[in-house]
Amino acid sequence: RIAIAPSQFQQGQILLTKEQQHYLGRVLRLREGDRFIAMDGKGKWWLAQLAGEQAQVLEALLVETELPVSITLMVALPKGNGFDEVVRCCTELGVTCIAPVLSDRTLLHPSLQKLERWRRIAAEAAEQSERSFVPTILEPVTFNTGLSFANSQQYICVARGEFPHLKDCLQHKGQRTNDIGQERIVIATGPEGGWTTQEIENAIAFGFQPVSLGRRILRAVTAPVVALSLITAACEV
Ligand code: SAM
Repeated sequence: RIAIAPSQFQQGQILLTKEQQHYLGRVLRLREGDRFIAMDGKGKWWLAQLAGEQAQVLEALLVETELPVSITLMVALPKGNGFDEVVRCCTELGVTCIAPVLSDRTLLHPSLQKLERWRRIAAEAAEQSERSFVPTILEPVTFNTGLSFANSQQYICVARGEFPHLKDCLQHKGQRTNDIGQERIVIATGPEGGWTTQEIENAIAFGFQPVSLGRRILRAVTAPVVALSLITAACEV
């Protein structure tokens, strides 16, 4: 299996990049005429046949590895390279979109190279976990900008306080739809120092429901993974 950008599909052919030719030829040791699966990043898998620097698309394959809901994860950027792990694990768990956010207590202000790195990690993790869709990694935005991602179910994870558990709040109707954009969940997790009171109040004003992930205080890197796991458990059909 290999991820192919939609722009590389042209009139029944796939124009392979040098890296993809290397991967197919040297790493997977495919020869002229051998077949492989091309994932187009838009939710579809295609059976393709290697033909020199190109591949011929033979047929569409039916696979369903995506969740029946669209999940946007807003993560206040953790210190160091912690976000790499968030992107990798949450992609494996089925996230649709990840928005790195700069909160009042965020310590990291990332460069553009970081964004490219996160997008590469998402593509690799999507391929590894046999997803048919590579999650979108948005450019970092301030927390207040992120709050305007209006949705039907919006949650903000708050480590301290008496809030209902996320698992008791999720309202999934239990049916699979082909349009993963139909039922949408947005969930926000905070930085090492937690959210400020003002941020929690702003989120509530935007319709976010404060939720708990349990009685233990999770690291900023662990919390998004736990939130995604709970959503996956509630929504997978
Ligand atoms: N020092 C912070 C505090 O006392 O609030 C703890 C922050 S925690 C390391 C980082 C983030 O993970 C929190 O802002 C929250 O979004 C999430 N988190 C961690 N444990 C949680 C829990 N038990 N319930 C809900 N959210 C949690």
